[in-house]
Amino acid sequence: MLKGKVAVVTGSTSGIGLGIARQLAAAGADLMLNGFGDAAAIEALRKELAATHGVRVAYSAADLSKPEQATGLVESALKELGSVDVLVNNAGIQHVAPVHEFPLERWDALIAINLSAVFLTTRAALPGMFKRKWGRIINIASVHGLVASVDKSAYVASKHGVIGLTKAVALETATTGITCNAICPGWVLTPLVQKQIDALGEREKLDPEAAKNALLAEKQPSLDFATPEQLGGLAVFLCSDHAAQLTGASLPMDGGWLAR
Ligand code: NAD
Repeated sequence: MLKGKVAVVTGSTSGIGLGIARQLAAAGADLMLNGFGDAAAIEALRKELAATHGVRVAYSAADLSKPEQATGLVESALKELGSVDVLVNNAGIQHVAPVHEFPLERWDALIAINLSAVFLTTRAALPGMFKRKWGRIINIASVHGLVASVDKSAYVASKHGVIGLTKAVALETATTGITCNAICPGWVLTPLVQKQIDALGEREKLDPEAAKNALLAEKQPSLDFATPEQLGGLAVFLCSDHAAQLTGASLPMDGGWLAR
């Protein structure tokens, strides 16, 4: 379905971004990977994805907390792979602290990576999409783009911002063959969430399994995690012709979190 299209997936060396990159490659898209990690492991991943799916796979180590590198990521994809047809803004970080104790440095980093980078990559990718009259922008927001939780002020603010940006871009591109949507995951078991499970276990003196169950029970009625593969499936659907009129939406995949 995506043969001949190029997808840039930010933060695709781990977790949800990697799950999405895998599914887009399986659907035939050439890929620009991005994110941090061990250089040899990333090179092995790049080769594995290319060989398994018969697609071109490039990698950029762009640090999205730096505006020129966020723009540079899209420029490298254009240079190395020829276009950016699908842009998945997935990279994100978390920091948990009460608002009156929240370090400014963490606030700034969170807003830069979770929100400003989404603006910068979108701004850089749109001119080419306008020219080709086709594009898919998929922003990985969160249920925290629609509701709040305690101790996550910067994260909640950044993700609400992503949903606002998604709607604004959807309106500006509505007649152009480009769609822009947000996906709002609930709990997905990735390194970002494992840290929160470990902290909960320590605080409440729970073993790892009990801590995992307590985390789910508090928010996610299904009592199970969504997976990176399932989120990848939703991203592929958003790239399909069936989703051509789906734009400006915030789509939860949250085991019922937002239904309560
Ligand atoms: P993760 O920690 O497993 O992966 C994050 C990815 O972003 C990694 O590849 C990392 O290298 C990359 N990254 C971090 N900082 C970066 C930077 N400055 N520049 C470039 N890349 C950077 O996290 P995840 O759980 O897979 O989260 C992915 C996205 O999904 C985030 O935006 C997160 O907010 C969102 N999300 C996650 C959950 C969840 O339950 N895991 C729920 C809702 C939303």
